[in-house]
Amino acid sequence: MNLILLDPSEVKGAYAYLTDTRRITHLREVHRACVGDYYTVGLQGGKMGKAQLTELLDTQATFTLDNLNEPPPPPLPVHLVLALPRPRMLARTLEHVTALGVKNITLLHSKRVEKSYWQSPELRTEKIHHHLVLGLEQARDTQLPNVTLCKGFRPFLEEQLSELLKDRRGLVAHPGMPNACPRNIDGEVLLFVGPEGGFIPWEVEKLLEAGCEGMHLGPRILRVETAVTALLSRLF
Ligand code: SAM
Repeated sequence: MNLILLDPSEVKGAYAYLTDTRRITHLREVHRACVGDYYTVGLQGGKMGKAQLTELLDTQATFTLDNLNEPPPPPLPVHLVLALPRPRMLARTLEHVTALGVKNITLLHSKRVEKSYWQSPELRTEKIHHHLVLGLEQARDTQLPNVTLCKGFRPFLEEQLSELLKDRRGLVAHPGMPNACPRNIDGEVLLFVGPEGGFIPWEVEKLLEAGCEGMHLGPRILRVETAVTALLSRLF
């Protein structure tokens, strides 16, 4: 927790009040917090700055806020379309990509996505929100990503893809493609990452037909969470 991310409901005038066990325990056990210490805080969706811990009880931590006038870091110019991974991988991937600055995420069904993953508790709004918050706290950011669920590949192709590609360069990460993933690119990207079993040839063909470019990351096949991190660092 490199940033204390404040929900607007936790702020009253110049004070912020945390009452959840997770952050109070983290302050005590990881930061070894003492009254008088200063921490970096940020208002969800807003600015960041310093705050002094003025009271630390078992059930409440009180901070006095200085001017919160620092903007959060800039977002990455990418909309990530991620074939829904298994629940634990989803949780970690959401945290990593949020920490890296992704602000738009579509979780997509594809042929090799296990249908039962769509029933996972990890897809509940509050669970997704929790992983996004952990990513923001890690990276010191305040802007939550938008996460959209899309349970059909064909409806995505027919109803959303052309609109998303209007002002973005579409890139499909797929092992075995002839071209390597580009580096340090400018402009907005629509990045597709497949499921653990990969995209099927028909899906790749349809994405390429729609105007996306296929690309690879070398001969090593990476896990989804590793591939996403490697792709984002290489692209931007
Ligand atoms: N057996 C699958 C295949 O060959 O497509 C492996 C899928 S991989 C575990 C999951 C996703 O990560 C892939 O669909 C792709 O989007 C991305 N990925 C992993 N390694 C990659 C690589 N070397 N090149 C391009 N994409 C990769």
